[in-house]
Amino acid sequence: MLNPIPNQIDRLDFQKTFSDHQETAVRWRSSTLEERSARLVKLRNWIKENQNLIRKALWEDFRKPEPEVDLSEIFPVTSEINHTLRNLKDWMKPKSVSTPLSMIGTSGKIHFEPKGTALIISPWNFPFNLTVGPLVSALAAGCTAIIKPSELSPATSFLIQKMVKAVFPTNEVEVFLGEVEESQALLRLPFDHIFFTGSPAVGKIVMKAAAEHLSSVTLELGGKSPAIIDASADLNDAAGKLIWGKFVNCGQTCIAPDYILVHESQKERLLMELKVFLQKFYDPAFKGIENSRDYARIIGPKHFERLSDHLEDAISKGATLDFGGKTDKSSFYFEPTILTSISEDMSVFQGEIFGPILPILTFSTIEEAIGMVNSKPKPLALYYFGKESENSEKVVRETSSGNVVLNDCVIHFLHNNLPFGGVNNSGIGKAHGHEGFLAFSNEKGVLTQRIGLNNVTLLRPPYGVKAKQI
Ligand code: NAD
Repeated sequence: MLNPIPNQIDRLDFQKTFSDHQETAVRWRSSTLEERSARLVKLRNWIKENQNLIRKALWEDFRKPEPEVDLSEIFPVTSEINHTLRNLKDWMKPKSVSTPLSMIGTSGKIHFEPKGTALIISPWNFPFNLTVGPLVSALAAGCTAIIKPSELSPATSFLIQKMVKAVFPTNEVEVFLGEVEESQALLRLPFDHIFFTGSPAVGKIVMKAAAEHLSSVTLELGGKSPAIIDASADLNDAAGKLIWGKFVNCGQTCIAPDYILVHESQKERLLMELKVFLQKFYDPAFKGIENSRDYARIIGPKHFERLSDHLEDAISKGATLDFGGKTDKSSFYFEPTILTSISEDMSVFQGEIFGPILPILTFSTIEEAIGMVNSKPKPLALYYFGKESENSEKVVRETSSGNVVLNDCVIHFLHNNLPFGGVNNSGIGKAHGHEGFLAFSNEKGVLTQRIGLNNVTLLRPPYGVKAKQI
């Protein structure tokens, strides 16, 4: 049984903590590499020492398998910390810029100052990773942070609160548990930066609230990420990767392939391969996928109903159930499900699915596939499987998405040197590694006038004669 998140904090506490953070932020403006690194090391030590608690909390929240916790919750965060510790000195160092001819006699540098106070609002689907990952970037940049984790993953949210209490004073990092009301109360405060991960609908609410104070935002949102399987694709290779990418975390992954667009000549073979991998991954002993410890559950009743409605809607409008479809409301079990014969009026064709339903559509030319992708809002990720570089280059060039992965899916999240994030409906701003550090930093241009020429004096009044000489 899940613990409900108590409504424990009144708004005065938010204001008091926020004022304390503002004071800390002024002190931290000149924080050193050593101070920031020490904070990250303390955080890493707690995570390393408490891995079992993290695994236990995620099992409690939605039966997330331990190896998935290690790979998708703990490893990305410790890897982010290690990468940051290796590079922070270089990131913090002011960068010299070249001097244009009109500015001769001056020198210019970019300083990276902490934006100040940060608010991190996070979702439930990778609740540890998507809360602590942005915290790493905030601390690296020298920002304080107030965190509002999701109410739908209470065991992990309580654990994050416990971790923060153990590692940081409340005037540096604080966690407020709560739901929409608490989130909106926090959004009324004039944070210097808001880092939000969640749905596009709530992203708009966050951006409107940020506009009141002109707080900057990073919005990590969702959307329908397509996987294009071209005629030249290695179907066995693609199927294994797609089944893992789609059904890890029970399909509740922002960058999961939302739907497949397969070349019409390959549809039947791809379907066969996908079914082989579903069996191999989740039911090798033929005991039923519901008995696999390697397959997570839907987070709760609201999302279970939403996904059941998707399935019912598709079937009632003529979709073919090619695999799965079994559900159990009492345990929030939702079998990996594959649908074909999809039509535009089905809800699975319209909004983000965010669960273990995989619709398969076909195309006859790569132009048609590109057209289908471009007819929808820009996705968070786009996957292309195929051996024809002409087609893969065309897809990269003629579509817009946060990231593209060629011949794989989902794994780009783990690449510390690539910007991660969406575009427009799937997000604003980028995260991870250096991009994460920059999201929480103000890039301040500093110009020094050196003794010598000052070309601008030529432009001082009286303008008449001089202006004619220029
Ligand atoms: P959500 O938008 O419902 O909730 C996210 C957070 O916002 C939670 O902490 C919640 O309490 C808070 N919130 C909810 N409603 C609010 C409101 N009206 N006002 C203020 N705060 C509010 O998202 P979710 O269901 O937790 O997560 C699923 C969504 O997140 C999907 O769309 C998914 O694609 C997206 N997502 C994106 C990424 C990414 O990195 N781009 C990662 C994970 C999830």
